[in-house]
Amino acid sequence: MVNRLNSSYFVRPPAMVVSISVINHSFSSAKTWEVLRPRAPPQAFAKFIWFSGATPKPAFHMWVTNLNRLPTRSRLAAWEMQITPVCCICSSHPETRDHLMLSCFYAEVLWFKSRRRFRDTVPVFTNWPELVLWLSSSSPATPSHLRTMVIQALIYNIWKQRNNMLHNQALTPPLVTFREINRHIISSIYAWRKRKHFSNLMARWLI
Ligand SMILES: [Zn+2]
Repeated sequence: MVNRLNSSYFVRPPAMVVSISVINHSFSSAKTWEVLRPRAPPQAFAKFIWFSGATPKPAFHMWVTNLNRLPTRSRLAAWEMQITPVCCICSSHPETRDHLMLSCFYAEVLWFKSRRRFRDTVPVFTNWPELVLWLSSSSPATPSHLRTMVIQALIYNIWKQRNNMLHNQALTPPLVTFREINRHIISSIYAWRKRKHFSNLMARWLI
């Protein structure tokens, strides 16, 4: 506690903080926080994750997945935890992000079903950079918002099922999971239909 009180933040606040307080004649914790916190430059990938109409949980999960920070078994084993590195779902490949999200049999079913709903050819992704490349582009048939919504929903649900398998030894059939994903996408498009980027999405997601 003494060390904290003696830290430079408490004893010698940055001049900017002092000037804000002096100018406003009041202390604002929000403004002080803005001044004190380190702020990294915006990441190029951010606009494909945080957008108006994004669902918070899948969006946050996409951010973590893109950084490759998911606690997959391969990563945990690399930290010398005494666990098997094989995939929770198929038990036949190392459980890496790319395997779980792109090439595990469970993911393959969800990707296959999703590809058939787009009015465009969607490539088969063999690694994460390929997926990011596709996500970073857009076409009239598959606008960026639709790509982002579908990918976020897929990634989120695959991880949910992976955890279901890990903790409950249960796996929802992929076709049932796809029905849930489909419902989520349709209700999201409907909810935001009056917004510019969502107004024509329903016709581009084949029902
Ligand atoms: Zn697998």
